[in-house]
Amino acid sequence: MVDAVIIDGYTDEPAGLGVPPYLDAIQRYVAGAIWYVRPEWQVEYFTIDQIRENPKLLRVANKARLVVFIAGTAVPGKYLGGTPISYEELVRYTRLIKGPVKVLGGPAARFGFGVEGGRSAIPKEEIKELFDVVAYGDVEAVVLELLQEGLRVEQVNVYATLRRSGRELNEIARRGAHIAIKHPCYPERIIAEIETYRGCPKAYFGRPCSFCIERFYGKPDFRPIEGILKEIEELYKVGVRRIRLGRQPDLYAYMAIGIGELEFPRPNVNAIHKLFRGIRMVAPNLRTLHIDNVNPGTVCHWKEEAYKVTKIIVKYHTPGDVAAMGIESADPKVIKLNNLKVMPEEAMEAIRIINEVGANRGWNGLPHLLPGVNFVHGLKGESEKTYELNLEFMKEVYKRGYMVRRINIRQVMAFPGTEMWDVGDAIIRRHKAIFRIYKEKMRKEIDLPMLRRVIPPLTILREAYTEAYDEKKKLTYARQIGSYPILIAIPLKLPLCKEMDFTVIRYGYRSVTGLPYPIPINKLEYKLLKLIPGLGDRTAANIIRSRPLKSLDEAINIGVPPDIAKHFDFTEN
Ligand code: SF4
Repeated sequence: MVDAVIIDGYTDEPAGLGVPPYLDAIQRYVAGAIWYVRPEWQVEYFTIDQIRENPKLLRVANKARLVVFIAGTAVPGKYLGGTPISYEELVRYTRLIKGPVKVLGGPAARFGFGVEGGRSAIPKEEIKELFDVVAYGDVEAVVLELLQEGLRVEQVNVYATLRRSGRELNEIARRGAHIAIKHPCYPERIIAEIETYRGCPKAYFGRPCSFCIERFYGKPDFRPIEGILKEIEELYKVGVRRIRLGRQPDLYAYMAIGIGELEFPRPNVNAIHKLFRGIRMVAPNLRTLHIDNVNPGTVCHWKEEAYKVTKIIVKYHTPGDVAAMGIESADPKVIKLNNLKVMPEEAMEAIRIINEVGANRGWNGLPHLLPGVNFVHGLKGESEKTYELNLEFMKEVYKRGYMVRRINIRQVMAFPGTEMWDVGDAIIRRHKAIFRIYKEKMRKEIDLPMLRRVIPPLTILREAYTEAYDEKKKLTYARQIGSYPILIAIPLKLPLCKEMDFTVIRYGYRSVTGLPYPIPINKLEYKLLKLIPGLGDRTAANIIRSRPLKSLDEAINIGVPPDIAKHFDFTEN
């Protein structure tokens, strides 16, 4: 008999991702809170995609005593790994579940239901009637109280929170690790999103960025190193091999010195070192250890410390890592009016520092650690000039020879309680046409050449996972497993759910075309052979005529450049 069911509608917040293959911390905390009070309870975990595929799972939920929905994409993007629950689905599924106590938690409960970038969120009050309890505070704290009160909903403080620095939350996190085995991507692909702290250091100065919802988490509240390590150790014990330190507004400010005194507190190099070294001690054979969210302001204000922290990350992590930086705008007027973090020259400096330490290529074919750039549109003071300045800024980044792993362009989603709520989507609507042109320009003029720089032709991308086959386009899609993975399109039908290596041969704006490595030279059709950079029509035709090729020498003798021939697989069948 199942006692409790967690329905994961997926989460995406500025700090924290929970769309497969990611399993966010909140979902695990809820399981941990249940087992903290009721260690004997059987807890099931279903993703919304599993329910769409098999609605009978709702029957299991209907027989449980407690059903917790987790939902809310506060920074919605496009996801290959799953589709977040829609508002209509939330309404439909909650109505179908009648017996158990129903709880809603996550960003949808806390901040309102985000629909899409460029539109305002559905206020949380509208969701209230669908549930017995809507957790306006921390859902794990609310579930904890609910169980301690014997499921008497009227006794529960829906605003309850749990301090990240406290013993209880860290114990809950440790216990909740066990729910990971129920995730559809377990064990190969699952990435456990780890929280190191929450709350922005800017909270002390009353000037949060105009659109940001991190303010609702209050002042920074750090999880102790010990607590984080115990949780990771437990995840590792149950078989999770991929970790991302993604649930914090700025990893470089973990345990920072001068919180409350400085808008950009000094990075605590020792604490970050202890954390990373400790992770490798409790989880020695992690296959992915990535990070997320770095405040460019911290990097450019504390250069020496930022170098040290970046070196620590590069020493302990796995390559292909991204320091996603919310630069948001390169327009000084927008920066000022919205209390953003850095002026363009400061952002440039942060990009330089991360490049200097992180640009070396790792074993999986990707540079170790590169900056990611986030731009937000629709902010106060935005004009046509803003779009020009953003493009100019990125052109300058390219001109200076730096690498950027990805440029994330999004439209603001206004949440109640932020300065942007009154503005809503008015500016976005006004700039709709410019936005489209600008995005296209950014993709063509920056993304494309940048991708060639980050992943030059004939790069071998190791251990990518084949995820889907598009029958119409005759393309298999694969991705390496980690932060902001590059999509590899392969013009062949390949077995799915396999880890393979690929040689990069072509480029899209945000994806590459690859062939399996080593390239099966005796099997490929002429039209695919022609795509291999440096081969051309004539050599491709030579290959066809001389097949089967048996050795590197044979390939070189018919005109294949040696650096290309070394990618070939000479197997005949
Ligand atoms: S620096 Fe700005 S965007 Fe980042 S967490 Fe703080 S308020 Fe939010």
